[in-house]
Amino acid sequence: MNEIMIKNTAQLLVEKKPWIVLTGAGISTESGIPDFRSPRTGLWEKLDPMEILSVRTLQEDPHTFYRIGLSVLLRFRDAEPNDAHRVLARWEHEGLVEGIITQNIDDLHRQAGSQKVLEIHGHLRTFLCLRCGSDTPTEEVAEKVKSQIPPVCKCGGVLRPRVILFGDMLPPVFQQAEELSHQHPLLVIGSSLQVSPANYLPSQAPTIGIINREPTPFDEKAAFVIHGGAVEILTALNTAFKELGRKQ
Ligand code: NAD
Repeated sequence: MNEIMIKNTAQLLVEKKPWIVLTGAGISTESGIPDFRSPRTGLWEKLDPMEILSVRTLQEDPHTFYRIGLSVLLRFRDAEPNDAHRVLARWEHEGLVEGIITQNIDDLHRQAGSQKVLEIHGHLRTFLCLRCGSDTPTEEVAEKVKSQIPPVCKCGGVLRPRVILFGDMLPPVFQQAEELSHQHPLLVIGSSLQVSPANYLPSQAPTIGIINREPTPFDEKAAFVIHGGAVEILTALNTAFKELGRKQ
């Protein structure tokens, strides 16, 4: 890692603060949750997430949706936040970060202590009853699906995950995400920026910075791009950020 680049980036982060952070699956790979697009991660090698985690499969083939798709999603709940999630929570506390827009459904930003988290692809904490609109904790649904597919609520309505599936409408929180990314510089971490509509946000932001293992379609537009692992880079930036604080 280039030390001068880290120092210069830390300086820029301070100058332009507060930042909105947009995170994707890449920030959680070091917590043990594979992303969709990195080569050879295994999870989706034989399954197409766009097919299985879709409204169409939920409605037309609930057995595949609940037996295969859901069982993969439920594994996300065993993961714990890593140092990249923790650094972002600290930066929010210190005023460098205004809030986080995440494409992830793994809850790891909240578990790390971040307060303002916009989950534009929903979450896995509860399931929604399509009849009465009530929520059922995911633990209860995980038990139900062992003997009941699709799982149903006490009222008899079908329960579906609070996750935004392929083919779903955008959640209302996306509008808030759009407003924030108009107003603040945007730091993208661990996202291929190939998934719509999240990849619409960087095109609206006044300034963008990118931390990602692989190149993204927005690299040319960014004020800075650092290719590498989120934990290593955010830890280094946090150290540089503290150094700057000591000098000021
Ligand atoms: P993606 O799979 O399209 O891309 C992830 C990107 O992260 C890749 O470009 C990869 O190079 C990079 N990356 C991987 N590990 C990294 C690391 N340690 N540090 C820095 N970069 C790293 O992910 P996406 O753009 O978020 O879109 C995939 C969709 O899948 C999203 O809609 C998301 O909701 C969903 N998803 C969520 C989770 C989760 O909740 N943790 C996991 C898998 C997929």
